Amino acid sequence: MGYTYRRYIRSESGAFGCVNCKTHLAALEDLESHAFQGQTGRALLFRSVLNYTLSKAEERGMTTGVHTVADLECRRCKLQLGWKYLYAYDESQKYKEGKYILEKARIVKVDGGLSRRRTQLFSNGVVYSDDQASDDD
Ligand SMILES: [Zn+2]
Repeated sequence: MGYTYRRYIRSESGAFGCVNCKTHLAALEDLESHAFQGQTGRALLFRSVLNYTLSKAEERGMTTGVHTVADLECRRCKLQLGWKYLYAYDESQKYKEGKYILEKARIVKVDGGLSRRRTQLFSNGVVYSDDQASDDD
């Protein structure tokens, strides 16, 4: 499909975006941990991320054991942002499954106050709004 579809995050406490193109990626409310190590240094664990594309899944050995992961790219500029945990072999690491690592060096705080039509209030207090830049106005 050739159309551009991006979602904006509106959060009272703020949001993180791609360091390169500022595309919104995650709300502060979805941040689960600061204590992670990425390929470029410190990294953050998020419960939910938007506006990304995933590369092919692969098994990767990490300090916490073998995980099946897929690298995460910015949907807009293709910058590699981190990865998504798809499967953890070690029982103690299962909590990471389905969650996302964003490298601290690849994200910035962005303004979470964009207001758009078609907003949806989620139970965690974050408003995700859809913006279809193309043609439905
Ligand atoms: Zn980007």
